[in-house]
Amino acid sequence: MEDLLRNLTIRTFRDGLAAKKFSALEIAQAFFEIIKARDGGIGAYLTLTEDLAARGAEAADLAVAKGDDIGDLAGVPLAVKDAILVAGERATAASKILEHYTAAYDATVIRKLRAEKAVFLGKTNMDEFAMGASTENSAFQITRNPRDPERVPGGSSGGSAAAVAAGLAIAALGSDTGGSIRQPASFCGVVGLNPTYGAVSRNGLIAMTSSMDQIGPITKTVEDAAILFRAIAGRDPMDATTADARYGEELLNPDLRKIKELVVGLPEEYFSGGIAPEVAREMERAIGKLKSLGLRFKPVSLPHTKYGLSCYYIAVPAEVSSNLARFDGIRYARLAGGRADGRGALGELYREQKGRGFGPEAKRRIILGAFVLSSGHYDAYYEKAQRVRTLIARDFDEAFRKADILLTPVAPTPAFKIGEKAADPLSMYLSDVFTIPVKLAGLPAVSIPTKPARALAPGELPVGFQLIGKKWREADLLGAGTFYEQLEN
Ligand code: GLN
Repeated sequence: MEDLLRNLTIRTFRDGLAAKKFSALEIAQAFFEIIKARDGGIGAYLTLTEDLAARGAEAADLAVAKGDDIGDLAGVPLAVKDAILVAGERATAASKILEHYTAAYDATVIRKLRAEKAVFLGKTNMDEFAMGASTENSAFQITRNPRDPERVPGGSSGGSAAAVAAGLAIAALGSDTGGSIRQPASFCGVVGLNPTYGAVSRNGLIAMTSSMDQIGPITKTVEDAAILFRAIAGRDPMDATTADARYGEELLNPDLRKIKELVVGLPEEYFSGGIAPEVAREMERAIGKLKSLGLRFKPVSLPHTKYGLSCYYIAVPAEVSSNLARFDGIRYARLAGGRADGRGALGELYREQKGRGFGPEAKRRIILGAFVLSSGHYDAYYEKAQRVRTLIARDFDEAFRKADILLTPVAPTPAFKIGEKAADPLSMYLSDVFTIPVKLAGLPAVSIPTKPARALAPGELPVGFQLIGKKWREADLLGAGTFYEQLEN
């Protein structure tokens, strides 16, 4: 059973369910057994939602029994990042300030997946409010990389990536603001898609940086990422930034003849030093394999790349300081204990609850954000960062005149050791140097393992390559990725 679960993809699960090889309930129960046996050593999940999963699985089984057209996601056991609301279940965003919060409604993505009769196994660990690149900023637990338990799974969607990589869910939802889907996918050896800004509703995602946050799939295969993405994408009246992109058949059934025509740009700024040798070697492998499919390569330049990190770390804290202001210790959930007994000045209650409720990275960004937005500093920092953001977006427009998609590393290194960067925020921030510019420009990008887990040598760590596309052209990325995956190693 364990091997069956480990190898299940959305596609193979669907085929097995339709052929009545197993029931959805049976599989959901088997997943909980393996989670209980194995997750102690990994720490992917914060909350298990067994009742919810049983109800979902029964609904899927009923549909099969009635001979309904079950679609691709009926009964599929999924893990959900804890920043995404599932009605009636805990949602903490891995923060102490939300430790006792229960979601009052479903995020739009959850509502859509429920309609498809997907099964939710539980909520996964993350960096507090999605701020971090290792999942060590969780207020509750660390998550270990299933490939090497001494190493981090990446972050902030580390719990979701670890759950999929360890076979503790078939697929998962994460969220990406500066790299939080792609970097953990790369570290854990799974596929992670950051959709075009506005492709997927953010309604019911606990906001970190509203101008960049996007929900996306973390899966074992590129095909699964396409299936899950298509199910959650689309315009939503609850999120005015969403658009109707009409992702058609090409998303699920890419045409090799069209994919071969794609010209791939290699941005020189992403290959000039600072990359670990094994990452550089794996980029060569990825490029070689795509060439063997017939894709052509071209050098391109994104000259403002060097300002990406600075620009991001002004824009993000600014939005964080405003988004996190709502957590005042009165609305949502109250922390137990302390002096918050309702007596004394209101300001004192806020101070006390926020002081105990937010972790160090959240406090750092709230203070920094309040500073860059304050009068006298706004023009020098926030406004300037917005201007640089436009320049970075223009770089991509320029590059896409010469190329259809871009290939870069996802991160400068493979998974680092637990504790290695925890005390040095700046070195942690550098882990996202290749994933951040994409977000400043609102573009789609996918992280794909350069080789399958079974092809890794003992002790070898997974490495992902990133494909970046034009807005709304996820089909180019997923199409190239699908054919890439089908090549032998
Ligand atoms: N590591 C980056 C940060 O801390 C990105 C996080 C994310 O994408 N949510 O901001």
